[in-house]
This record gives sequence, C-alpha cells and structure tokens, in this order.
Amino acid sequence: MSEYIELYQQITGCTACGLSEGRTNAVPGEGSQDADIMFIGEAPGYYEDRDGRPFIGQAGKLLDEMLAKIGLDRKDVYVTNMVKCRPPKNRDPLLEELSSCAPYLDKQIEIISPRVIVCLGRFSFSKFFPGEAISKARGKPRDWRNIKIYPMYHPAAGLHNPGLKPAIEKDFRNLPALIEQVNQATQTEPAPEQALPKQLSMFE
Ligand code: SF4
Repeated sequence: MSEYIELYQQITGCTACGLSEGRTNAVPGEGSQDADIMFIGEAPGYYEDRDGRPFIGQAGKLLDEMLAKIGLDRKDVYVTNMVKCRPPKNRDPLLEELSSCAPYLDKQIEIISPRVIVCLGRFSFSKFFPGEAISKARGKPRDWRNIKIYPMYHPAAGLHNPGLKPAIEKDFRNLPALIEQVNQATQTEPAPEQALPKQLSMFE
C-alpha cells in the first residue's frame, strides 16, 4: 500500500478530535500526488462533508473558475484543508482541532512535496507564518523551507464579501508568474553532485 493511501485511510478513520463525532465523511484532500502546487483551505463545509471531497461547494466552484482562468485544472494541483472534518455549523476550527489534525497535513506536504503552497485564508497562512494578518500578507510570496508560500483570501471570503473578489482574482492572476519563477529557479539550481565542490571550496 502506498504511503498516500495509508495516510488517506488513517484520516478517514481518525477520531483524534471532537470533529469526528459530527462528521458524515472525513475529507482528506484530492488531486495530483505529484502536484507542484498545493492549495490549503480551512475546513470542509456541508457538501464536502456529505461527499468526502474538498472544495465542491460554492467556494469550490469559485476556485475552479479561478484555476480555469489561469489554465489550470483540479487534476493538476492538490487541494486540502487544515482540518479534515467539518466543524459544526461551519464554525472556525478550534486550536486543539487544528493541532490534532496538523500531523496529517504535515505528512501530505511531505508526500506530495509541492513547490508552491497557496494558503487560502488566515488559518492556512498562520500554519506557516503565525500571528500575521492575511490582509497585509496576501499576494506576496514567502519562503518556507524549500517551498514558496503564497497567501490569499479564502474564496468563501469573496462570496461573503464581494469587495474582496478583485483581490482574489488579482492574486490568482499572479500565480502563473510565481510558478514560472519557481520552476526556473529549480532548473537553474545545480545538481547536488555539482554543488558539492563549491561547498567544499568554502573550507579550502
Ligand atoms: S479533524 Fe482531523 S484530527 Fe479531528 S477527527 Fe478529523 S481527521 Fe482526526
């Protein structure tokens, strides 16, 4: 069994926090296991809980539209959430729920190994850069380990507050350039065996 399938099964059977009690289905995530881009939202909602799939409600439709505008499809990316089970009445996830669920997301990041992580909303962004406001950080890529973190508003925020939609659209429009930049940087990185003599020369 692949590591990915094993993790998927662990999530669907997980009872590590109280959110397991009210769920219909856990929602591990879906998309390409080789994706260079991972989208991380907040938590499943009604439709996601019903079907066990991420981003299939209104916010998901908006995400699909935005992806299509930049020539991407769901199957090209990986989409998941900070917590894998739906909080009651779509309330914000609690700190203990986020903390119980975090190892699953960490493992997904390790297995999929994306080059770019798009944080959809403040909960996702605060995993990587705690205490910073998404309103100030959005649209500005940051380095986290070897990954570019790209924060933007959650698509649901654009549905509840149409005034935020232009910012979401703008941040999506800038995503292809970021992906291109990351790809170019990766291509120009020396292979490890080429890098070694350079590093050694520091000690000569
Ligand atoms: S939210 Fe995460 S930690 Fe809580 S029960 Fe679901 S899978 Fe387990």
